[in-house]
Amino acid sequence: MNRKYRRTIIAGNWKMNLLASDVGAYADELLALIPGFDQWCGVVICAPFTSLPAAVTAFHGSGVTVGAQNMSEHTAGAYTGEVSGAQLCDIGVEHVIVGHSERRELFGETDDTVNKKTMRALETSLCPIVCVGESLHQREAGVTADVVAMQVKAALCGVTTEQIRRVVIAYEPIWAIGTGKTASPEDAQDVCREIRAVLRELYGEDAARAVSILYGGSMNEKNAFELLAQPDIDGGLVGGASLKPAAFAEIVNAANQDAEI
Ligand code: PEP
Repeated sequence: MNRKYRRTIIAGNWKMNLLASDVGAYADELLALIPGFDQWCGVVICAPFTSLPAAVTAFHGSGVTVGAQNMSEHTAGAYTGEVSGAQLCDIGVEHVIVGHSERRELFGETDDTVNKKTMRALETSLCPIVCVGESLHQREAGVTADVVAMQVKAALCGVTTEQIRRVVIAYEPIWAIGTGKTASPEDAQDVCREIRAVLRELYGEDAARAVSILYGGSMNEKNAFELLAQPDIDGGLVGGASLKPAAFAEIVNAANQDAEI
């Protein structure tokens, strides 16, 4: 982390878990465990679509913001079952996860789709959390840096230097998501540093150093402190461990460390 130049963000991704009726109790428990969190990090809860209004209400005025897990690549029209960026903003959602590996693998999202969704998000007031990451096969083949650099460049095609400051990148090695296997802090740092180098190449030093890069992949209350201590890891995108307020609170509190480098 480096709070001199960029914001630390701990984002929870609930995936297809929890009911709208669970949100109030979750919020009460979490908020009681993270007093003063806004002095060291931003906290985002990415809830399923059906729980978003309840989450916006439950976290109102607390400093915790609410994110969606997906959005349409279209602005409006005959797209049955889709939800637009404007519709998310309208109910008070501030972030949106774009290009999660589960969307890429299970729902056929391509780099082109991810780019379109990123652009649509930026056309509204949403902050996209753009996910990139290599498969186990790609890691073993030694092409992680190339794969991730290509995903970042493809996702950001057309994003301006002004807009990039609203983008959050999440480095999520696919082999570490939901598997209990975590990238070592050093390996995660290496890839996050490479991502920042790509941002520097595209947008220059000032913009690159202002972008928050999160690590995701089995981050939990035990490994968070060390991961977050890395200079280019500015937070976490947390799946499983965000479902229990106590575990998620420990991760938020692990981000309360001396971070100026
Ligand atoms: C995720 O869903 O983005 C994620 C990182 O999941 P987990 O923490 O469960 O690996």
